Amino acid sequence: MRMPELRAGANLDIIPVGRLTTTPYCWAGCAFCRLARPLPKVRMTDAPAGLTLAHLAARGVNLDQTAQIRLRGGLSLREPFDYWIHFLRHLRAQYQGRLIAFSPVEIWQFHVLERRSLRDLLHLLKWAGVDLLGPGGSETWTPELRARWTPHRLEPNEWLSVAEAARQVGLGFSMAPIIGAHMGETEWNEYVAVILQHDPQELEVKPLNSEGTRWAAHDSASILETVAAIQRLREATPSLPLYVCWDEQPLDDAAAIFAAAGADGLLTSVWEVTPA
Ligand code: SF4
Repeated sequence: MRMPELRAGANLDIIPVGRLTTTPYCWAGCAFCRLARPLPKVRMTDAPAGLTLAHLAARGVNLDQTAQIRLRGGLSLREPFDYWIHFLRHLRAQYQGRLIAFSPVEIWQFHVLERRSLRDLLHLLKWAGVDLLGPGGSETWTPELRARWTPHRLEPNEWLSVAEAARQVGLGFSMAPIIGAHMGETEWNEYVAVILQHDPQELEVKPLNSEGTRWAAHDSASILETVAAIQRLREATPSLPLYVCWDEQPLDDAAAIFAAAGADGLLTSVWEVTPA
């Protein structure tokens, strides 16, 4: 592992994130997923009910405590896309911070199931007040890793179609490599090439946490692998905002190391609301 020089005295924002889970169920079965409960493919109407505004009210979370709220979840969704547009519009009316909702993975599923154009779906997300698409689906890029980790999710060209449509409607998209021992030179070169070619609005670094996943036989990412990933991405894209997803403690130590490596911010969950 090559370790470039660390930047002394660099600062990094600690960004409190509120997470909303549309549904904890998903048919896709990605090997690294800690979020979803497996469910075979069922008709939308047979899927368990998803998140409601009543769940949010019942938790009594303080929306102003967060710099950003993220809506994400599994693909076994009962509710149609328009339900989520109204959910987001209502949320936006009460919340001034950054709103990140869905990723190309969910958008592609709505596109296929509801036979609606990507542009129409993304225009509606923007109308509802969403600022950015989440990075879901961009964790791995080589065909080998995709076949091992996420064989049932959308194809890379489908992911890029959604990302490009998001750019065209002024929504923007982000990318997030998942970090761990699987990221060798080939995987990194391919990932960086995609970033440079498609110019996301921002990048996130997601250290693999394999605990409780089907990938549990493999080690979670070490802090050194995470630092090296930050440095590699910072070198390749000197001005792109670069954040680290980090829910581990102690925050301050990690923040100092990641800042020195070149990250701009550390995303840390402060609350999460799920439907069950
Ligand atoms: S599509 Fe998303 S929620 Fe579903 S298993 Fe894969 S990573 Fe988890």
